[in-house]
Amino acid sequence: MSEAHHEIENLRAPPGANMIAFGALLALSTIFLFTSYCMARALVGGFGAHLGTIAACVLATIAASIFLWWLVPFADFAEIFWLHLPADRRARENRCPFCGYPHESRPTCSECGRSTAPLPAWTLTARPVRRLACLLFPALLLACGMGEAWCVLDESRFVAECASSRDATYTRSRAFPAGFARMWVREDGTFGSEAWPELGREREWQTSDELRRERGLGWKRDADAADAEEKERGARP
Ligand SMILES: [Zn+2]
Repeated sequence: MSEAHHEIENLRAPPGANMIAFGALLALSTIFLFTSYCMARALVGGFGAHLGTIAACVLATIAASIFLWWLVPFADFAEIFWLHLPADRRARENRCPFCGYPHESRPTCSECGRSTAPLPAWTLTARPVRRLACLLFPALLLACGMGEAWCVLDESRFVAECASSRDATYTRSRAFPAGFARMWVREDGTFGSEAWPELGREREWQTSDELRRERGLGWKRDADAADAEEKERGARP
């Protein structure tokens, strides 16, 4: 690594500024990963916190964290905003980039003793990558824990609703952000859930009509649509 890189890596924004930047990144990542976990839980389907389900959802959430890596420059946001931008402004005004004292073209500042050369521009170094990795790990733990708790809470609420409902086949959507999945109870008291149940189809089903089979209309939904189409055609004079 070059000396300029080292110099940039050693510059630190005030701790408070970094706390704000890291806090915002942690919150953003946790919200994204929490949503990912809940959606993965709904996509996997089934009911209840089984070990296999949790493992699949954690893996899916880790995979989803790939989409957070574009945030890498934001891990250096405090340095960019509190160090590089003010230093550039001072350098333009012929003042020391660190303390702002007028340097009158002297190579070292007579106030703070540091070089008056303009600060090198911010570049992507290993530091923001390390920082983001350190942030994503707790965000993942937090998001998976919160996501699982959220889903278990929703499921236990559903069980309570079933108990108080007079309908033996009670059903409702999962809670936000997995409203695309539906939970149900069967008459024998077994619980289940599936994503987009209205798109579910009987995979075994095949039409007896050979012509339709050739056209790939094996699924019930397509066959129904073709039926309706044919009826409409027949109704026309
Ligand atoms: Zn100075």
